[in-house]
Amino acid sequence: MKSTYVNWGDTDIYRNWDFIGAGIMYDKELEKLSHCSHGNKEKEYCHTCECYPDDTHQDNKPVVNYAYPLFSEPDEEKIIKVCEETGCTVVYNSQDDNYYLALTGCGMNLSQDIALAYIIVDGCIEWGFLENVSVSGAFSVSKEDYQIILNELERQLAISIDNQTRKLKEVTEQLKNDLPLAKGA
Ligand SMILES: [Zn+2]
Repeated sequence: MKSTYVNWGDTDIYRNWDFIGAGIMYDKELEKLSHCSHGNKEKEYCHTCECYPDDTHQDNKPVVNYAYPLFSEPDEEKIIKVCEETGCTVVYNSQDDNYYLALTGCGMNLSQDIALAYIIVDGCIEWGFLENVSVSGAFSVSKEDYQIILNELERQLAISIDNQTRKLKEVTEQLKNDLPLAKGA
């Protein structure tokens, strides 16, 4: 699987990384708090409005030291969906100009959360990650989301098998011959 090791606790982590998911969720909570009618605007939170800007800021930061590259650039709506519906957040690396998923909680097996986040942003699970997704029951996602993940796994694995079967045929064909040079080589 194509993940990158990152120490999110590094003192100069913000030099190359932007915790974009955490930032968006923090602003979203602040915005909610600005409409508070319970006199809590000056405080950091309101229980009645269920606004916790500071907690949310913490909650949507990456904690596990891996980053999973995204294929596409997620819009704000998708980033919020990832933060709210999966155990992942979205981070941005300014050096390679790429968006990544990162886990916001540690736990037993969060492969289903990563799969779900990939489906939300990229529309499919990262191909190299297919075999890492746990399929022994819904771990940390809802039954409905587990169903979505299983359907997508079935669809992608079938494509993957088709592609590999075709490739295997080509390889076997080549091995039967005297290994010709490619045209132009
Ligand atoms: Zn309030």
